[in-house]
Amino acid sequence: MSIEEKGSISIHTENIFPIIKKFLYSDNEIFLRELVSNAVDAVQKIKRLAALGQYNGELGEPLVEVALDEEKKTITISDNGLGMTAEEIKKYINQVAFSGASEFVEKFKDAKDANEIIGKFGLGFYSAFMVADLVEIQTLSYQDGAEPAKWTCDGSTSYEISEGSRTTRGTDIILHINSESEEFLSKQKLGEILDKYGKFLPVPIKFGTTTEQEPDGEDEEGKPKTKSVEADNIINTTNPIWTKAPADLSDQDYLDFYKQLYPFSEDPLFWIHLNVDYPFNLTGVLYFPKVKNDFDMQRNKIKLFSRQVFITDEVKDIVPEFLMLLHGVIDSPDIPLNVSRSFLQADSNVKKINSYITKKVADKLQELFNKDRKGYEEKWSDIGLFVKYGMVSEEKFYDKAKDFALLTNTKNENYTLDEYREKVKDFQTDKNGQVVYIYTNDPAKQDSFIQSANKKDYDVLLMNSPIDNHFISSLEHKLEKTSLKRVDSSVASKLIEKDESTESVLTEEQSKTVKEVFEKAITKPGMHVEVVGLNPEELPVTVTMDEFMRRMKDMAQMGGGMGFYGNMPDNYKVAINGNHKLISRILKSENEEEQKTLAKQAVDLALLAQGMLTGAELTEFVSRSVELI
Ligand code: ADP
Ligand code: MG
Repeated sequence: MSIEEKGSISIHTENIFPIIKKFLYSDNEIFLRELVSNAVDAVQKIKRLAALGQYNGELGEPLVEVALDEEKKTITISDNGLGMTAEEIKKYINQVAFSGASEFVEKFKDAKDANEIIGKFGLGFYSAFMVADLVEIQTLSYQDGAEPAKWTCDGSTSYEISEGSRTTRGTDIILHINSESEEFLSKQKLGEILDKYGKFLPVPIKFGTTTEQEPDGEDEEGKPKTKSVEADNIINTTNPIWTKAPADLSDQDYLDFYKQLYPFSEDPLFWIHLNVDYPFNLTGVLYFPKVKNDFDMQRNKIKLFSRQVFITDEVKDIVPEFLMLLHGVIDSPDIPLNVSRSFLQADSNVKKINSYITKKVADKLQELFNKDRKGYEEKWSDIGLFVKYGMVSEEKFYDKAKDFALLTNTKNENYTLDEYREKVKDFQTDKNGQVVYIYTNDPAKQDSFIQSANKKDYDVLLMNSPIDNHFISSLEHKLEKTSLKRVDSSVASKLIEKDESTESVLTEEQSKTVKEVFEKAITKPGMHVEVVGLNPEELPVTVTMDEFMRRMKDMAQMGGGMGFYGNMPDNYKVAINGNHKLISRILKSENEEEQKTLAKQAVDLALLAQGMLTGAELTEFVSRSVELI
């Protein structure tokens, strides 16, 4: 028979190839992903047909082969899949807009896995023309009595079909690489691309240069010589762990896979195996890494696959923002590919996937917490950042996480939100019924304040991670009748306003005198002196910045648009403890110079305790101290 034919590729646009070349794919290396995916699909389809009893011939070992011929400047992708008849080529290849998969699915729509085999890559085959100026198909269909067929096309809208030369079932796609794309005629380059996209494809991929064993003259002893041949390698793992059932995997399997993905990383803290097939299809393994300070380095480590074909490591929108530091893989044929970001955000599957992942992560954390509280607490310093970030940024996650989020105090004890409230409510409720949580963001610098608070039986929380400013606000917002105050926002006895108060032993007249002495002694701007009656055990002078004022300044510094507060000079409260014996000594002194020196010394000591005494002021303080002793 003769199947020679010339014709035009039926597409509606005048010339689609320039469009493919320029706009469809920004990254032309993906031609290989597309053609190898098609080959893999073809192999899976013949297996499926055999399983359904629609094909009774020999299956053979499923295999896809990529071969490079540097001399001929060709790359050939071969498979022993189902092949195509000339009619099918016309239908599936020539009619660009027609997806071959839809007919396949129609034909076997009762088969359970029909969806899995739908090609999802749209104009996949034609991406070949991004790198080739001539593309040739040699194919032989599995169907009884099928004839081999050949198709060639030079990138214009005309093609040629004729009798082919393939003698076994399957397809060769032969790309004659164009002059601008010669970079792909390198074994190393092709190897890299295959490794990137094909490392976990479900059918073995063999890769090598042409292996014809041509005779190459004779050697000295007259024996025939052959051209040297490079060994072919299977480049992929066909059953990566995310395709298996968690019950069949050991911890070591998960750790090994992690090492395979990120060879230089420390072991992860734990992992979550994702597996859902309704209402969308998604599998994967997400790992919680040990968080380092260099967040940016650790972002974009999740790899997105579609039916084991690598797509991208840009999973923004699919994975909730607060989980972007996770590592691992997600595989879903239900994520639309090659679409714009805004489309992706609006896609309902993507939204569902996003909340599914959030829920799975929350469930896993709750499980770890319930099963092994001690182990969980040990990991808290690493996972706390994720959990707090999640609580701050997602309402739904907050609602779940409030049961396993921990608050850590300066004694390194951990409490859940409920436990903590129970712990502090007796001592730390103010006269208006507000429970006041006291925290430090710098335990070393605020040590004297922490000790004063502890003396009053107040507990102090550690809030020194980068997210804690936001976490504090969201706690205040969420917890009823609760406010948070930094331990240095006022003297210990004023942190929590209660009805009881220590009376000042000073008369009004004496207080006025003390105030004047201190005002004269202080040269630093923005210091507001106040004489208060505190416990005689407390420090004679304490310098504090009001909680509200400090938060406003913090926000302004972070660029919260608080221009007004940002421009305000620092304002501090200088609390003089009227009940301290140093103050009575100042009052008793008749010598104005001595009064001033004592006051200065007391203020500088307070500043020193907070690391606020620097430069010339520090030098002056040191020489004054030397004189005093
Ligand atoms: P999709 O893969 O999304 O269907 P492609 O443009 O990649 O779109 O391929 C179009 C069609 O060509 C395929 O659906 C398939 O029917 C056919 N085809 C492509 N490559 C092969 C191959 N190696 N073996 C058999 N059929 C193929
Ligand atoms: Mg395809």
